[in-house]
Amino acid sequence: MAEKSFDVVIVGGAGVGSSVAYHLAADPDFTGTIAVIERDPSYRRASSALSVSAIRQQYSTPANIALSGWSFDFLKRSGELLAVRDERANVGLLENGYLFLASEAGLPILQSNHEIQKMAGAEVALLSRDELAARFPWMNLEDIAAGSLGLGREGWFDGYSLFQAFRRKAISLGVDYTVGEVGGIECDNNRVVAVTLEDGQRIECGMLVNAAGPFAGDLAALAGIDLPVRPRKRFVHVIDCRTPLPGCPMVIDSSGAYFRPEGSRYLAGISPAADDPDEDCYNLEMDWTLYEERVWPALAHRVPAFEEIKAIDAWAGLYDYNTADQNAILGPHPEIGNFLFANGFSGHGIQQTPAVGRVTADWIIHGEARAVDVSVFGYDRFAKGKLVKEVNVI
Ligand SMILES: Cc1cc2nc3c(=O)[nH]c(=O)nc-3n(C[C@H](O)[C@H](O)[C@H](O)COP(=O)(O)OP(=O)(O)OC[C@H]3O[C@@H](n4cnc5c(N)ncnc54)[C@H](O)[C@@H]3O)c2cc1C
Repeated sequence: MAEKSFDVVIVGGAGVGSSVAYHLAADPDFTGTIAVIERDPSYRRASSALSVSAIRQQYSTPANIALSGWSFDFLKRSGELLAVRDERANVGLLENGYLFLASEAGLPILQSNHEIQKMAGAEVALLSRDELAARFPWMNLEDIAAGSLGLGREGWFDGYSLFQAFRRKAISLGVDYTVGEVGGIECDNNRVVAVTLEDGQRIECGMLVNAAGPFAGDLAALAGIDLPVRPRKRFVHVIDCRTPLPGCPMVIDSSGAYFRPEGSRYLAGISPAADDPDEDCYNLEMDWTLYEERVWPALAHRVPAFEEIKAIDAWAGLYDYNTADQNAILGPHPEIGNFLFANGFSGHGIQQTPAVGRVTADWIIHGEARAVDVSVFGYDRFAKGKLVKEVNVI
């Protein structure tokens, strides 16, 4: 089999991988060759195809606010930026706020997040219970002390269309998409020199980008790197409610349940409770227990009209879960300097794909992240004990 060689090899060709490929290929300062290696071109199991695709400013970590803010501005211009020939991309971006609800007990965290968000330039408003009642009369607020509403740069979009638009544009700019599963990584003197595919192909590379999503930890292990990213299963439910809920935002309930409109229906789900086992998982089998025991009761409590809802569909997907601090891990490995991470988004990755693609391209071209300051998200934070704990994980 003839050997191939590329300046940059990106493993994983969904949201993150295709954004990195696009940003590199579109940058006049980069003149090298790029290959994306993707084992499943149907993307049936890719998180980027199974996400709820919402984007927010309401984080407890300023670097997340910056990454998502940059990405929101990119999404607004994506029609033109990702157009191929005369065909504009359409990622279906809808600008609409997140509403984080807090009980009396959760109020100090809501207020402290609000301060962080304001200082980072996010457009957010703290609303009292009365203000919430006036704005969302369809909500039961008896156990709610306050809410934080996003007033700009938040909303949702079509994650599948976004990564396909990145992919199409990258291909039009000359990026090679190879179907195959990377099963080995060859290193020499603290440098990655090649990857081997399960079919026996060997592909030499000048740099390797880990964009393997929930499987990023498994990929890093092939180079002997310990990366705390594990696949964790989450369920999304599609529900039908006949009563309209005017102005419904993406609601993050004090119970941990969330819901947002999707056309005439709603998407809903919940994070595991603190005492749930939340084990590593490689299958996408559906289980309705969580819906029956926690999601539906929480929704029906918060919105009386949801007592009558019909659950009409559901799916499971895998979070690329960073078990150490639930935040992205970005940039080069401290010793194997040509192995780059773009991993560990823990449920907020599809919204950050534009900025993550840009900063990863910056590293490859300039040796530093330029578009957004993501220095807190380096891999070396684990050795230094400088974890960046994100409080708002959904
Ligand atoms: C249910 C659910 C809801 C979510 N909701 C949101 C949300 O509202 N907002 C948000 O921002 N994010 C959300 N996310 C998270 C988001 O979807 C992910 O963080 C993001 O899509 C990760 O993109 P990725 O390209 O890194 O991973 P993926 O989309 O999983 O792509 C990784 C690709 O790598 C390939 N691959 C893996 N290993 C190999 C290998 N060895 N060789 C070759 N190919 C390989 C896989 O086949 C896959 O196509 C959600 C996720 C889930 C599961």
